[in-house]
Amino acid sequence: MATNPVVTDELTYCAVHPDRETALRCNKCDRYMCAECAVQTPVGYRCKQCVRQHEDKFFNATDTDLIVVFAACAVLAGVGAVIVQYIGFIFLILLLSLPVGGGIAEIALRLTQRRRGRYSGHIGAAGVVVGGIIGVMAQTLIAVWPLLSDPRVAQQGGIATGDLLQIAFSGVMDISVLLFIGIAAFAVYGRFRMKL
Ligand SMILES: [Zn+2]
Ligand SMILES: [Zn+2]
Repeated sequence: MATNPVVTDELTYCAVHPDRETALRCNKCDRYMCAECAVQTPVGYRCKQCVRQHEDKFFNATDTDLIVVFAACAVLAGVGAVIVQYIGFIFLILLLSLPVGGGIAEIALRLTQRRRGRYSGHIGAAGVVVGGIIGVMAQTLIAVWPLLSDPRVAQQGGIATGDLLQIAFSGVMDISVLLFIGIAAFAVYGRFRMKL
C-alpha cells in the first residue's frame, strides 16, 4: 500500500500573532505568517524577519560612508543653490533640479563605492537641504557685505546677529532656491532608493 502524504486538519497560526489562523508560510524560513506579516517579494511571500535579513545584506554602508554622503550632498547642493540664486529662472530650475539632484546622489554613491545604508536616502536628502540653505545664506551675506561693512553702519551701533540671520535667511525664502532644494532633495532620496 502506497503511503499517502500526510494531510492534517490541524489549524496553524501566525508565528507573530498566535491568535490569527493562517496557512501561509514564509518561503525562506517556513514559519507561518498572517496577511499582515507577509511581505510580497519578487521571489514570493516572505516574513518580515527574512526580508529584513535580506536587506541588511544589501545595506553595507559604514558610518563614514553616511558622513561622506551627507557632506557630499551638502557641499554640492550648496554650490547648486548659490548658482540657482543667480539664475533665478524658474523654468530652467524646474527642468534641471531633478537631473542635478540625481547627479549629486550619483557622485555621493561613487565616493562611497556604492555602499548604502537603510537611511542613506534620508541622509543625502537632509544634506541637500542643510547644504542648500547654508550655501544661500552665506552667499546672501557676502552679497550685502559691502553695505554692512560701511563705516556709517558701525557708527549707528552695527548690525545685531538676529538681523544678520534674518537678512541671510531672506535669500533662502526665494521661490527658485526653495524649488531647487526641494526637487534636488527628492531626487537624491529617489536615487538612493534605486537598487543600482
Ligand atoms: Zn521567513
Ligand atoms: Zn502575523
